[in-house]
Amino acid sequence: MKTAIYPGSFDPVTFGHLDIIRRAARMFHRVTVVVMNNASKHTLFSVDERVKMLQNAVSEIKNVSVDAHDSLLIDYCKEKRVRIVIRGLRAVTDFEYELQIAQTNKALSQGKVDTVFLTTSLRYAYVSSSMVKEVAHFGGDVSKLVPEDIAHALYLKNNTR
Ligand code: ADP
Repeated sequence: MKTAIYPGSFDPVTFGHLDIIRRAARMFHRVTVVVMNNASKHTLFSVDERVKMLQNAVSEIKNVSVDAHDSLLIDYCKEKRVRIVIRGLRAVTDFEYELQIAQTNKALSQGKVDTVFLTTSLRYAYVSSSMVKEVAHFGGDVSKLVPEDIAHALYLKNNTR
């Protein structure tokens, strides 16, 4: 059984994330999407909201589940006995940050936890949660970037539309 986790803030999940999730689900027997609760990071949506949005978005992919975690990622890996972490790469700008996290996780887990990078599908290369939030904040159209219920939740939070 090859299990992988896909951790992130998912504030909120976008079509870019969902594309990575779908592709990872074809490579591994099980994929758990883990909503990381980083106290120092201000988020628009609560952990519960982010988990619910993800659960809705992946409900049709049988081997994908959603979980939440609020301390070190490698503690989660240890607890669940997972050794593969998936991350997405959009552009060179992601690379340095992602490489550093991957190497830290590798070192902190005594070499046990490896990171697998999936490169973005070109149509989603420009999509990020922060950009989606910015557009929704000003009432712009985010229907091509996130699922419908999430677009609605974004407009509600921002009192736009
Ligand atoms: P974090 O706050 O941990 O960076 P995010 O929710 O922003 O979490 O992203 C989770 C992962 O998904 C990261 O590896 C990020 O690079 C990747 N990702 C985000 N948007 C896209 C996209 N459009 N295409 C591919 N990967 C993406």
